[in-house]
Amino acid sequence: MVATAAMFASVGATTFKLWSLGSLKWPIFLVVLVVAAGMCLVRAAWVAEERAAWFAIGLGLCAHAGGWLMDFYGYNGVAPVPSLSDALWLSAYLGLYPGLVLLGRHRFGRRGLGVWLDGLVGGLALGAVAAGTALQPSLGSLSESWSAVVGSAYPVADVVLLTCMATTFAASGWRPCRSGKTLVSGLLILVVVDTVFAFASVHGGWFAGQSYDPLWGTAMLFVATAGWLPSRRLVRTEASWRQLMFPIGFAAMATAMLVYGQSGHLNPVAVVLAVCALGAVMLRMALLMRETASLALTRRLSLTDDLTGLGNRRAFTAEAEAAIAEGNPFALLMIDLDQFKELNDTLGHHVGDELLRGIGPRLAATVRPGDLVARLGGDEFGVLLRGADERAACVVCDRMREGLARPFALAGISLHVGASIGVAVHPDHADDAGTLLRHADVAMYEAKRGRTGFAVYASEGDHHSRDRLALAGEMRAALAEDQLVLHYQPLADLASGELRGVEALVRWRHPERGLLAPGAFLPAIEHTDLMRELSHRVLSMAMVQAAAWRDAGLTWRVSVNLSATDLLDRQLVDDVAALLRRHSVPPGQITLEVTESVLMTDPQRAMMVLGELRTLGVRLALDDFGTGWSSLTHLQRLPVDEIKIDRSFVAAMAAEARAAAIVSSTVDLAHAVGLRVVAEGIEDEATWSRLRAVGCDAAQGYYLSRPLPAGELEAGAAAIAERARIASGVARLTA
Ligand code: C2E
Ligand code: CA
Ligand code: CA
Repeated sequence: MVATAAMFASVGATTFKLWSLGSLKWPIFLVVLVVAAGMCLVRAAWVAEERAAWFAIGLGLCAHAGGWLMDFYGYNGVAPVPSLSDALWLSAYLGLYPGLVLLGRHRFGRRGLGVWLDGLVGGLALGAVAAGTALQPSLGSLSESWSAVVGSAYPVADVVLLTCMATTFAASGWRPCRSGKTLVSGLLILVVVDTVFAFASVHGGWFAGQSYDPLWGTAMLFVATAGWLPSRRLVRTEASWRQLMFPIGFAAMATAMLVYGQSGHLNPVAVVLAVCALGAVMLRMALLMRETASLALTRRLSLTDDLTGLGNRRAFTAEAEAAIAEGNPFALLMIDLDQFKELNDTLGHHVGDELLRGIGPRLAATVRPGDLVARLGGDEFGVLLRGADERAACVVCDRMREGLARPFALAGISLHVGASIGVAVHPDHADDAGTLLRHADVAMYEAKRGRTGFAVYASEGDHHSRDRLALAGEMRAALAEDQLVLHYQPLADLASGELRGVEALVRWRHPERGLLAPGAFLPAIEHTDLMRELSHRVLSMAMVQAAAWRDAGLTWRVSVNLSATDLLDRQLVDDVAALLRRHSVPPGQITLEVTESVLMTDPQRAMMVLGELRTLGVRLALDDFGTGWSSLTHLQRLPVDEIKIDRSFVAAMAAEARAAAIVSSTVDLAHAVGLRVVAEGIEDEATWSRLRAVGCDAAQGYYLSRPLPAGELEAGAAAIAERARIASGVARLTA
């Protein structure tokens, strides 16, 4: 900035020296102006950013230079006022104004209009004051003083420009960039020299060749240079008194002029300017009204949830922040509906929406009037209980669960909705809203996981839960980048020792944490839509492998695990059918393993899907048998082909007579209803033999083999089969 000023000072000084020499002055003066205009036009042609603005300014400067050209060569430097030169000089503003408005819009965004109106008000008011005071004597009789009118038009126009710039800077907190400062400097010089000119034209006329003439060139050079200096977008500061200060101050000024004019002394120019200033103020106020109204509307819209009409997450956070700022204790409740996604999928979105709308009033009925109920997104609600501590929050949690427990009558059925609630208390658990919300979320997860209904935040759970969230996030990348692999664990026929099939078990080749077992990541994504994607991927990989083995002459059955969520997915049956077709795998070669938990959320739907899968011809297995709550009663109801006895029973068999009895009777019962029985988790030969003795059909376990990558399994298959045959006594017999 200083350097630029110094440069211009020296340019100015040199110009002035040459100026005094006389003959050189006009060409030099014109060259300076043409250079300035050229700088703007080249800038516009060269740089795409702010192109239109600098083009307009460049045209303005051309008009200005044209005015001088006309003055020097047309009128020999003694143009009358008004003259054609004035017409050109004034038309320079036709370029400067739009140029600067465009510049303002570019650097300031759309809101710039109000700021420019402020500038217009300012310029008109100042013009009115100038016309009514300093210029009053000569403007008094208008007809004789056209020169004064035209002369005063320049400074008024400059002041309007300058005030526009000033209000722009005021609105952005007085922090102009270098380009802005240079522009303002140029305009300031212009005001000064135009004002001097105005006085000169009022008092006895003006002619070219005054000692201050080079200032015009200097001013234009400043303006042009601004185009080449680094600029930055201005950020509008929050509306403040500073911004209103301008229109109010100038309105007062214009009003004062009119009041003063009541005495009849004021010249018409001043009156017109003052009236225009007040008109512009009204326009400005109308604009302000509109801005404020739309701001209020956006604010309200941005704080409410469309569906439920409750406050949204933003409103909730703001309220929590306010309560923290006030220093009042309060409790934050995070409420998540259980199995909402399934319900939504099963009954349709309109029912889901209706349910969500019904939740708000139920929750609101359990809290006090000053408390806030908000929808944080999806099926998640937040409640802020003012003045509540942990104990009070727990009482409210109980009430809420009772409130939600009453069935909702939706779509002609009565729906029971469970919810898990997490509680975090200020100031005990955190003293900022973000952390508090996170802690309530962690507690909510704990409540869901432990099926406790609600839970108060306890810091130990936090780490665990954050890990889960991070993992779920990374899983997206894992699916996209094929980081999932399958290992296969063989199943052998207990009677013959033959390898009959394999179970596909997913692994995650995590880029940082190495090979992860399913227990490390499945729980984190179990209730998200990532689970469906994962299942689809696993199914597809397993089918590709089954087809490859088939081509190699191996007719191993391939078992794939499904999660409860998968069974609620309408797509599942079609997906399985499509995969079977694509890879030409006979359906009988695929076994899908499900656990009893599929019956927990929506038994009818799950049964229907299982039925359809079976119609496709794939086999179904009931996994982890014995760990569920009503095992045997479900046996006849579920359309499965085999059961897999959970390894907790199998492992205990060797040591506990009771476990052995359970396994034995289960095998009998299953056989009685026509099901095959697989025992999993066999780790030693003793267990193997016992299972064989009780008539179990197939065996799976570390004793036979750990889950292995397909290649390793193929390579080791002969040895594994040999071990199975020996364990079953077949190999010894034949040997
Ligand atoms: P699961 O279906 O009960 O699978 C058997 C699990 O027991 C496997 O653990 C297997 O490595 C382990 N196992 C096998 N034999 C023995 C043994 O002799 N002793 C012991 N201690 N463990 C044995 P893994 O691979 O960690 O899988 C754990 C669970 O993750 C599976 O239990 C299954 O519920 C789930 N899972 C694995 N892959 C998938 C998948 O692709 N989709 C879905 N939905 N779930 C899967
Ligand atoms: Ca399984
Ligand atoms: Ca199992």
